[in-house]
Amino acid sequence: MRSKIVAGNWKMNKTLSETEVLVTELAAKLPDTDAEVMVAPTYVNLVGAVRYLEGSAIEVIAQNMHFAESGAYTGEISADMLLGIGIETVIIGHSERRSIFGETDEILAKKVIAALEKNLRVIFCFGEELEDRKSGNHFNIVSDQLKDGLFNLKPEVWSKVVLAYEPVWAIGTGETASPEQAQEMHTFIRRTISNEYDDSIAENVSILYGGSVKPNNAQEIFSKPDVDGGLIGGASLNADDFIAIIKAI
Ligand code: PEP
Repeated sequence: MRSKIVAGNWKMNKTLSETEVLVTELAAKLPDTDAEVMVAPTYVNLVGAVRYLEGSAIEVIAQNMHFAESGAYTGEISADMLLGIGIETVIIGHSERRSIFGETDEILAKKVIAALEKNLRVIFCFGEELEDRKSGNHFNIVSDQLKDGLFNLKPEVWSKVVLAYEPVWAIGTGETASPEQAQEMHTFIRRTISNEYDDSIAENVSILYGGSVKPNNAQEIFSKPDVDGGLIGGASLNADDFIAIIKAI
């Protein structure tokens, strides 16, 4: 059974004291929900966030990790470091990691394997650029990203994989894929996984939509049968907005 998930990616926002304020407010206002709720503060504030959220149903997750176990990788963080502070889920392949930090499909595939080998859960992000959508190449791009990033995985590890379809043209732009566009792509993603693996894996994987999800559009997007939740950027930085999005699911 796939789960519903609302995850907030805070990116490079919030100091430690701001993190405390935001997570405390979120914990206090968290509605009853059958969705998993997650927040991804920046690395240096993960330990603090875990501590502030002790006893809360909100999971603290990481925005990224390196594929190596340890070693000379200045500025990087390993899977063991995340596990050591109680983190069980990591986002891999966010479009900002791909476009700003040059993470290729090959690097991302190594990260996914490294995370899964350590039994971390992976939220794997992918999605097409505006030119791909305009030229009608978006299905090919998404299919290639899935193939390069994930299709070397053994079927049994798919229970630890969550997908986040994030059309790059909708991230931080205020422009959202229509609920129909999201549903169409999520259906395509499930079909692609089913063709590569089987129906059971395709049906059981949670597929989140990301790209300018806000309180005023969340309900419509989440109402689509193949949209299992959202990866939320900007709107996750405000407690009331994030809570409204959680309520929408
Ligand atoms: C994101 O960065 O994953 C994202 C979806 O951002 P926003 O909600 O701000 O578009």
